[in-house]
Amino acid sequence: VELPIHEAVLGRAAEFGDAPALIDGTDGTTLSYEQVDRFHRRIAAALAEAGVRKGDVLALHSPNTIAFPTAFYAATRAGASVTTVHPLATAEEFGKQLKDCAARWIVTVSPLLDTARRAAGIAGGVKEIFVCDSAPGHRSLIDMLGSTAPEPEVAIDPAEDVAALPYSSGTTGTPKGVMLTHRQIATNLAQLNAAISAGPGDRILAVLPFFHIYGLTALMNAPLRHGATVVVLPRFELETFLAAIQNHRITGLYVAPPIVLALAKHPLVTQYDLSSLKYIISAAAPLDARLAVACAERLGLPPVGQAYGMTELSPGTHVVPLDAMRDAPPGTVGKLIAGTEMRIVSLDDPGKDLGPGESGEILIRGPQVMKGYLGRPDATAAMIDGGGGWLHTGDVGHVDENGWLFVVDRVKELIKYKGFQVAPAELEALLLTHPGIADAAVIGAYDDDGNEVPHAHVVRQPSAPELSEGEVMMYVAERVAPYKRVRRVTFIDAVPRAASGKILRRELRERT
Ligand code: ATP
Ligand code: MG
Repeated sequence: VELPIHEAVLGRAAEFGDAPALIDGTDGTTLSYEQVDRFHRRIAAALAEAGVRKGDVLALHSPNTIAFPTAFYAATRAGASVTTVHPLATAEEFGKQLKDCAARWIVTVSPLLDTARRAAGIAGGVKEIFVCDSAPGHRSLIDMLGSTAPEPEVAIDPAEDVAALPYSSGTTGTPKGVMLTHRQIATNLAQLNAAISAGPGDRILAVLPFFHIYGLTALMNAPLRHGATVVVLPRFELETFLAAIQNHRITGLYVAPPIVLALAKHPLVTQYDLSSLKYIISAAAPLDARLAVACAERLGLPPVGQAYGMTELSPGTHVVPLDAMRDAPPGTVGKLIAGTEMRIVSLDDPGKDLGPGESGEILIRGPQVMKGYLGRPDATAAMIDGGGGWLHTGDVGHVDENGWLFVVDRVKELIKYKGFQVAPAELEALLLTHPGIADAAVIGAYDDDGNEVPHAHVVRQPSAPELSEGEVMMYVAERVAPYKRVRRVTFIDAVPRAASGKILRRELRERT
């Protein structure tokens, strides 16, 4: 695929013309394909006139809005690398990111302007802050639509030039800037599309954030590349989410496990007409097979299918193809997509390749492997083998005889109990099958003898206020091998999660 990302995505925009590309799920404002195409070109021209040059880093700091994709493609057309920013980041966090990637430009929205200004002050080096909507003293993307500046002629090399600079979620440590070239992103879109394709008439609900690589790919680039309609919500709030599915006749959902959990368990769900849904896909964190089935049965759908990937993989390598969702084995994250290679190697002896049924670290090689971490050559070298080009995912998994991949957990999260390995994700999934448990997270903790043991953090269902530690431990003990037993329980109000739905186990560790 030899097109810059804005052309790879919007190449057919003229063909889709008046069809709705983006609908604001809150007020119904709609942008057609023709508008997204025209608008991003005008804004690119105005950004170039304002001084944006090839290779500049532009920070896109916004919740999901219908303007987000236009701003993104305008920036890449002007030659910038776009670093997407968590809209809830503090000024300090945002400032750190700006400084780390030496960003020169910010595009934000007026409610976040104050944070953006402070972040720019902390980082230094930011030349100008633009706003998508309007704010006194700042150039606005809406005004830029009237620009008469010539379209910039930027020579982009898709194989080398960085289109996006997303930061990893920071689940295991400090978020790292991931350099993804135009080619890497565009190639991965084409690879994923062979298994999952939305097209004209499909309506996708963008409830996960565009700023994270999963939302950027599944909810923005992929549907817009194929003429589907994206209904945009600024955040996940159950009632608004359910109403949007009902009112906009949503056909496909890309979500993370906490939303599957809500769909499977929350009493409100049955009060909405969700019959337009054809499929649900979950990614970004482990999803239990029982939950995938329970959610689907409740909604009368095929089991929730999964996809697997990471920021460093542009982001996808595995997906359950839409036509296989009914027949895929429960719990699988999917099959390897075309043009990608995988190895599973022993955790004890990394040189040893494992066969079907044996769990080890997942290694990936393919055209979607990142260019590298920005400014962290050592971290890049630790992640990608110099000679072979294999990326170490840090995830543990195994394949079955037919090549379906099952992800167990992250290597670093495995709890080592007296020489046995326990996957927190497995215990979390089991805990969620208890009717009195609304949510759960498991971490390793040390007992008085210095053994690492599973420590469960449990959120009680409102209907089960008297659920006790002993009951929780017993429930698990009756269902797992003795070494996997939960040996400590703490009741909490909510499980801390990243925007992509991942459990922030390090936050729980800091509390104990
Ligand atoms: P950081 O690298 O900064 O610690 P992170 O790894 O959470 O954060 P992401 O790139 O957003 O950042 O997430 C990738 C990770 O998400 C994968 O390595 C894997 O652990 C997890 N993941 C993604 N999809 C799935 C899935 N379907 N099942 C289980 N885990 C998944
Ligand atoms: Mg990671």
